[in-house]
Amino acid sequence: MAEVSIQALFDRNVDWAIAKTRQEPGYFRRLSALQEPRFLWIGCSDSRVPANEIVGLDPGELFVHRNIANVMHTGDLNLLSVIEFAVEALGVEDIIVCGHYGCGGVRRALARQTGALVDHWLAPVVEVYERERARFDAGASDEARLNLLCELNVEAQVERVAHTPIVRAAWATGRTLRIHGWIYGLKDGLVRDLGVSRDGPDKAQAEQALLDPGPVDDWSEHVHASALRLLGGKAACGCDAAGDLRSEGVQ
Ligand SMILES: [Zn+2]
Repeated sequence: MAEVSIQALFDRNVDWAIAKTRQEPGYFRRLSALQEPRFLWIGCSDSRVPANEIVGLDPGELFVHRNIANVMHTGDLNLLSVIEFAVEALGVEDIIVCGHYGCGGVRRALARQTGALVDHWLAPVVEVYERERARFDAGASDEARLNLLCELNVEAQVERVAHTPIVRAAWATGRTLRIHGWIYGLKDGLVRDLGVSRDGPDKAQAEQALLDPGPVDDWSEHVHASALRLLGGKAACGCDAAGDLRSEGVQ
């Protein structure tokens, strides 16, 4: 692969901006005035999985969050904020969790490597493997085992997104919100639906309703409060976290 200098990135940027404007005069003026993505994409940081590009969407059409191995940490303020903004402010109705085969992060989790910060990040993927270990055929190839964990990881992260306070609150108020689990093939460029979509609370969630959104740490307390705003600031449990935030000057 040819080496590209930092300066070349600026040159390519100018070429790109000119080409876009030639294609559609006023393109950037239109984009700068409004952001109306219909989808939230939660994918891997892997440079070979450019979210917009592989699903044929232009800037402005996909709200994107990416991290190593497309993990939904329950205490990740970054991702929780992205989900909240996408659902509450942008009105996104489809959240796509998209992993990819051959994922280096998942490979590291499967190998149970330790000693780096990323190994803490990948702990939920290790958990998936430990929980589903019986589904891994000892005689299967390394690639087959890796790709199975890539798929199971997507399924697990779909469930984690489904259990975030913001998603639960959206469903509780009758909002349309679907969470999809997809996987991308590096070898053929194709996206596959893993058939693990969610469009409402599961039985256990429905029974629990919003009596206890189950904050897991300090950050989720804030998300809990934000979710309550969707319900008018008061939950059945009597929690008035939204009021607490208001008293702190947070709207
Ligand atoms: Zn990856």
